[in-house]
Amino acid sequence: MPRRHYDLDEVLALAEAGKTAAEIVEELGLPVGERAIQKAINKFVGPLPKRPAARSDKMRPRVVAWMVAHGLNEKVCCVCFKPSVFDMYLRELKRDDELGSLIFVCRHCKRVGDF
Ligand SMILES: [Zn+2]
Repeated sequence: MPRRHYDLDEVLALAEAGKTAAEIVEELGLPVGERAIQKAINKFVGPLPKRPAARSDKMRPRVVAWMVAHGLNEKVCCVCFKPSVFDMYLRELKRDDELGSLIFVCRHCKRVGDF
């Protein structure tokens, strides 16, 4: 078996945190291609969009309620400031564990990593 040229645990930790394969390659300065990282992630973590969604489902209403209680409007996008009738996505402004680092974004402003 060929030796890996990167630290798998490090890669998987970033993948779990919501980074894409391309971002991981760039952040760690890896000598391997995006595809190799994507394959490793698929093998060990599973397809990325599913896990965060499944994991956040139960907590989501509580998180949203907390955000609303702290002054955010769940019907208004924090990026474009337009009201939306659709469910908002959540975005982490900082990679910490604080609920206060979350904002609402609409489906137009949603990007990779929002959930
Ligand atoms: Zn928006």
